[in-house]
Amino acid sequence: MSKMTEPITSLKGIGPKSKLYYEKLGITTMFDIINYYPKKYEQNRGVSNLCDASLDEKLIFCVVIDSIQKIIRLKKLSILNVIVSDDSAQMKLVFYNQPYLKQSLYVGKKINIRGKAMKKGGQVVIVSPEFLSDKDLEIILNKPLVPIYKLSKKISNKKLIEKIKLAFDYVGDEILDYLPKELKNQCDLIDYEDALKKVHFPSDYDELEEARKRLIFDEFLFFMMALAKIKNSSGKKRKKFVINDDSLANKFLHSLPFELTNSQKTVISDIKKDMFSPFSMNRLIQGDVGSGKTIIATVAALYAVSSGYQVAFMAPTEVLANQHYKSLKKAFKDFDISVAMLTGSVKNSEKLDVKSRLKKGDIDILVATHAVITDDTKFHNLSLVITDEQHRFGVNQRKALVDKGDNVDVIVMSATPIPRTLALILYSDMDLSVNSDMPNGRKPIKTYFVNTSYRDRIYDFIAGELKKGNQCYIVCAKATLDDESELIDVDSYKNMIRDKFSDDVVIQSLHGQMKNKDKNDIMNDFVNGKIHILVSTTVIEVGIDVKDATCIIIENAERFGLSALHQLRGRVGRNDKQSYCILISDSDSDETKERLSIMTKTNDGFEVANKDLHLRGHGDLLGFRQSGIPTFKLANIYDDIDLLNLAKKVANRLILSEKIGKIEYNLLCNRLDVYLSNLEEFIL
Ligand code: ADP
Ligand code: MG
Repeated sequence: MSKMTEPITSLKGIGPKSKLYYEKLGITTMFDIINYYPKKYEQNRGVSNLCDASLDEKLIFCVVIDSIQKIIRLKKLSILNVIVSDDSAQMKLVFYNQPYLKQSLYVGKKINIRGKAMKKGGQVVIVSPEFLSDKDLEIILNKPLVPIYKLSKKISNKKLIEKIKLAFDYVGDEILDYLPKELKNQCDLIDYEDALKKVHFPSDYDELEEARKRLIFDEFLFFMMALAKIKNSSGKKRKKFVINDDSLANKFLHSLPFELTNSQKTVISDIKKDMFSPFSMNRLIQGDVGSGKTIIATVAALYAVSSGYQVAFMAPTEVLANQHYKSLKKAFKDFDISVAMLTGSVKNSEKLDVKSRLKKGDIDILVATHAVITDDTKFHNLSLVITDEQHRFGVNQRKALVDKGDNVDVIVMSATPIPRTLALILYSDMDLSVNSDMPNGRKPIKTYFVNTSYRDRIYDFIAGELKKGNQCYIVCAKATLDDESELIDVDSYKNMIRDKFSDDVVIQSLHGQMKNKDKNDIMNDFVNGKIHILVSTTVIEVGIDVKDATCIIIENAERFGLSALHQLRGRVGRNDKQSYCILISDSDSDETKERLSIMTKTNDGFEVANKDLHLRGHGDLLGFRQSGIPTFKLANIYDDIDLLNLAKKVANRLILSEKIGKIEYNLLCNRLDVYLSNLEEFIL
């Protein structure tokens, strides 16, 4: 067995019990602990003066003990106050429940401490500082950058650093490099072992950069090789049908009450060119929430229908399918077009009827959720498959549908803000159109971040919006299995706010476990303005379009990834009225506050996603896991795009050539296999 795969219990000081704390961090083997990278680095400030003690930052002080006070004992608590000084000032140190310290401390003793200042009863003190031996101090002062890790309750940063060092010693020379020397030289990359050591313990920022460059390159390389293995993109296919009629599309465009944006016009002309050509279209349409992608899809559908073919319009949720169905019906009321819907809540007898009409060719456009497209769903002459909010679908689902026709045209629409370069790589088999403009007259949504003490004021504010004829969403987080925090379910929430509003305000709750029919009825009532406040789980997250909804309140906002929050926020601001998004959270974590305040500063999905990645380090990437982009530990797909391109070139070369040394090649393949087995589902 390689030492790298040995459990961390082989390290001194990690027993069966503490092993569990490491497991919480995802660390079980030597490999894991060595690959547990710091989330950030603190600049070592050397030794500070007591007069500079800071409320924000842990600093190191070398002080002398002036006096030691009597231990105060209160029930379960003991308090030891020690007065210390250096040349600059005097300071009180407070130790809770460490009475034994008194034995080793005496007046006149020199001690090295590290701690943050705090205000206690109007006085600035340092609470429970860490003691540093002279040797510790020397080591720290020699390292200008201190790695800071994401920790669990029972593991301190210091302890983790110690164990990582032990792990490096333990595995010794077993950290083998799988990249050939020649390649490393060409790409200016350092050795693997070197990079791992420097990412944990860099001497300066240059070293850290070197280390990151190598490790990010590796992450991208495995990703690209995995992609190449999974995908076998074939060239353009000739289609068996002819699309050549734009009369219905033009009629529809003339009937619109608004002018298309420039980007909508461009995307539509891209699509027309593709559809009218003899080769199958395969096009990804990217555009932020609210940019107006549905109209584009509708025009594409009309090209197919007026040329005599069928269209499948797929939505990821029942609620969204319903909305699309309704709005198509409405848009086509003066057209001779038959639109039908197939979802879980459609009655069995009706399903059979829809399927038989579909097979006969009596239905032009089928709006459906994927789950209901089964083997017995047959089209008469399907020529176009449109998939909305594609990040919710797996690659296999998409393929199954495309196989219902013969080299059909395909449009997938996504609001996931992936950088263009990355999109071109991820969707290498697709052409890309970006719907970059927002419709005219949209006012930026105003976003606020507050704690629960503001609730009553918020309810007053909502009441004001309702008076203007507007509507409101309130979103509550769903409970998960390991929940400790208090979450309110939508029904209790509805009851809780009932008496905050006058009796004529209709409040309704909506959640995923409801019967589909009930969900649809509620959504319809909300769309038609019969419901004023909708208290909902994230079932409304994607796609829903209700023009009069001008505010969305998100409770326990800390539970959502920024990308999810951005999607939710996209439910409002869908016409020219001023809209509001209010994030409520009582979390006192600085990280959460920083994260949520990003939402208040930008409405741009691209920027939100980028900042999100910057902040999160590794850990759960809620929003991004859904988007189908695998998670990288160090790499940031926005900032490191050059390295991604380099890795792409190298990956292609490595896959094609067997020139690299045998051992390295085997190592590389082994690592790739591990990588592939760790990818949960590749949603591309
Ligand atoms: P998304 O891109 O999020 O799917 P939708 O297609 O649902 O956005 O469009 C959001 C709203 O904007 C819809 O109500 C739609 O009718 C409207 N809309 C789309 N294009 C325009 C435009 N050019 N001008 C004004 N409103 C538009
Ligand atoms: Mg949409």
